Amino acid sequence: MLYYYTSVCALFGLLIGSFLNVVIYRVPRGESIAVPPSHCPSCGHFLKPWELVPVFSYLFLKGRCRQCHARISWRYPGVELLTAALFLAAAWQNQGVLNLRLGLNLIFISILIALTFIDIDTLTLPDVLVWPLLGIALAAAFFVPGGPSGWVSLVSAVGAGALFWLIALIYPQGMGLGDVKLVAALGAMLGFPLIILAVFLASFFGSLIGGSLLLLRKLKFRQHIPFGPFLAGGAVISLLWGERIIALYWSVIFPS
Ligand SMILES: [Zn+2]
Repeated sequence: MLYYYTSVCALFGLLIGSFLNVVIYRVPRGESIAVPPSHCPSCGHFLKPWELVPVFSYLFLKGRCRQCHARISWRYPGVELLTAALFLAAAWQNQGVLNLRLGLNLIFISILIALTFIDIDTLTLPDVLVWPLLGIALAAAFFVPGGPSGWVSLVSAVGAGALFWLIALIYPQGMGLGDVKLVAALGAMLGFPLIILAVFLASFFGSLIGGSLLLLRKLKFRQHIPFGPFLAGGAVISLLWGERIIALYWSVIFPS
């Protein structure tokens, strides 16, 4: 049953990934995510159901619009595959059990994927996604077992948010208020000590990748790179594997 439920979750992830592509494109433009139906951004051609099958339609259409032949970005199937892979990992980590906690983790992962690509595109983290993440995470901590307890979640949200707010005050060019709100939401979602791991991973990979881009001259010095994707990545890793990473860390520091 483990394989059955994890596969079902992965297929479900492909569909949700397809929906997240719509969210990523439309939310920053202030458009409705329900109407109009999916269409080609170049010629407005409304997509038929068979043109909307995740990944497979992209492959079948060879990455081009059927009507105007405009290139479709590889990012569309990329987001679908990423969502499927993370849904599979979340179901696996939950031992293939379908429960409320797994549902919550899938919601957290979905919102974080949308925020990642919106931040890459626009350097903003829209409130319409960050506030619900904070609200759901806090409510879940109080009412759904399997995550941080309610008070730990609340204190972690306030603590992480306050720390990042201070950093944003001291160093406003490096950190925006969007990052502050996101890190508070991640504090609520992960609790302590996982939020520390998430922020550590985000800072580590953020400086590693930022530094490499500078060295490769892909980036001008002081050009802004979004921190949201690194926070989201660190948070997903901590959500799924954080407890094991921390246990491994202690076993290396204090070998028994
Ligand atoms: Zn077209």
